[in-house]
Amino acid sequence: MASASYMEDLTCSICLTIFTDPVSLLCGHSFCRECITNSLSIKDQCPQCRTTVPKEEKYLPTNHILKSLADKAKEVSESLCPEHEEKLKLICETDQQLACVICRDGEKHDGHKFKPIREAATSLRRELEKGMRHLPDDINAIENFLFKHANISCQQWNAWLLILYVCLINVSYMYA
Ligand SMILES: [Zn+2]
Ligand SMILES: [Zn+2]
Ligand SMILES: [Zn+2]
Ligand SMILES: [Zn+2]
Repeated sequence: MASASYMEDLTCSICLTIFTDPVSLLCGHSFCRECITNSLSIKDQCPQCRTTVPKEEKYLPTNHILKSLADKAKEVSESLCPEHEEKLKLICETDQQLACVICRDGEKHDGHKFKPIREAATSLRRELEKGMRHLPDDINAIENFLFKHANISCQQWNAWLLILYVCLINVSYMYA
């Protein structure tokens, strides 16, 4: 079975967001079930490569690998600051913890250094590529690598997991 390359493959090319109930066509392209069903009812071809989709291919089973990755990605990218219920767009470099814009201006982080998650993700990506030469398709391998090498506490782990996902997945639109 082809493994999911999360870089682009977690984003549906029709609705441009992370997959909801992803299904894969025989050509290998994946879409949300709802998106591709609508698209196929208009034109019986893959919207990405224009391969004709045979009528028999109407029943599309859920792609479970993609689904679990997409669900996880959604979960972490939608996480809000527990204190302020704002989107966690920043990382406090001093505490190595996620923060929202209200956290940043609060007393708790007085004088601390902040970085947008996107920037942290870019440097993490560079780090990972240095350490692993090429990023494996197995997301668990990357999590393990990060866990072993980054020397982070459990509390900081959630922060790094989110950064990891932003770095691996095309969720930049959420952090624009
Ligand atoms: Zn879609
Ligand atoms: Zn295709
Ligand atoms: Zn906050
Ligand atoms: Zn801080």
